[in-house]
Amino acid sequence: MAAPLQFNPAFIGDLAAIRRDIHAHPELAFKEARTANLVAAELTRYGVEVHRGLAGTGVVGLLRAGNSKRMIGLRADMDALPLKEMNEFPHRSKHEGCMHACGHDGHTTMLLGAARYLAEHRDEIGFDGTAVFIFQPAEESEGGAAVMIEEGLFEQFPVDAVYGLHNWPGIPVGEMAVMPGPVMAGTCAFEITVRGHGCHAAMPHQGIDTIVAASQLVQALQTVVARNLHPCDAAVVSVTQFHSGSAWNIIPEEAVLRGTIRTFKPEVQEMVERAIERLCSGVAAANGAQIGVVFDHRYPPTVNSATETEICRQVAASVLGADRVRKDELPSMGAEDFAYMLREKPGCYVWLGNGPGTGGCTLHNPHYDFNDEIIALGVRYWVELVRQTLGR
Ligand SMILES: [Zn+2]
Ligand SMILES: [Zn+2]
Repeated sequence: MAAPLQFNPAFIGDLAAIRRDIHAHPELAFKEARTANLVAAELTRYGVEVHRGLAGTGVVGLLRAGNSKRMIGLRADMDALPLKEMNEFPHRSKHEGCMHACGHDGHTTMLLGAARYLAEHRDEIGFDGTAVFIFQPAEESEGGAAVMIEEGLFEQFPVDAVYGLHNWPGIPVGEMAVMPGPVMAGTCAFEITVRGHGCHAAMPHQGIDTIVAASQLVQALQTVVARNLHPCDAAVVSVTQFHSGSAWNIIPEEAVLRGTIRTFKPEVQEMVERAIERLCSGVAAANGAQIGVVFDHRYPPTVNSATETEICRQVAASVLGADRVRKDELPSMGAEDFAYMLREKPGCYVWLGNGPGTGGCTLHNPHYDFNDEIIALGVRYWVELVRQTLGR
């Protein structure tokens, strides 16, 4: 096996400075203009070929070595969240109400570091093929990956496989989780409208009580997972909004319930939707109300392919040591738009430990900060992945 990579401290110092600069200048989905300019300028400086414009702010870097047609995609996300940062350190957000609370500043930086290292050391690394560095906009809620794909990402850059990485608070620094199959859930929003018959609150016999019917439905929805789903499958049905009423003496005409469904398999998603529809019509009939439901499908589940997962386990083991690669971490019910890339191409999405996650350093928390100690590990992982998949 090749010797472990040695990084010059100045190289890691430069990357930490880039990471803090991006952290201080967060940008929301599809508005990552400054970040994209920074990424493109850095890639150009390293001698990496730059392609811009996919999904607006997307940046793709190409690094070729040798003559092989082999090609792999390495992906980072660039967007931040609409959240007011509560940290007080010098690199805190300068953009009020916008924050890198998911560590995409770190993901972007680590992939830049890999691009630079590979460009500077392509001969000694000895790879034969093309590494495609994909910097995507709008991972948070807006599906930037899907837009890049629609606009021709994989036609222009027909990669054999695609790889993603997310920092993970709660996993110690120096460890990674690499699991096959579904690792992040698919997500679907729903809206239920309950229509009864409004009346005086003191004369309930003259109306159809929307609040009672909607309350029964909230309770009944909890049987979808508990009583319909195979106990070894997983799903979540959460009602997160209940809007109704305008006065203490009026039984309202309408109630609106909203919430989210999380599943790992299309057939489970299908089953959950049919069960919700059944409960809506049953509760409607029982109360003489009218109930309609609309589903809004968002991200599909993120599903790792078996071969590429095994490759990533070996890569992670050679970077961190085999005993520091977690193989049976539970999947997350959170969602990830890298799922769209994994629907098109085989690949693997891994979690890199960001530390204990104490003091509010958890994803989407206003006290979160990406841990600069893991920059070198992330860069090593990407470089090693290129070496092991495109090596001569
Ligand atoms: Zn996030
Ligand atoms: Zn994220």
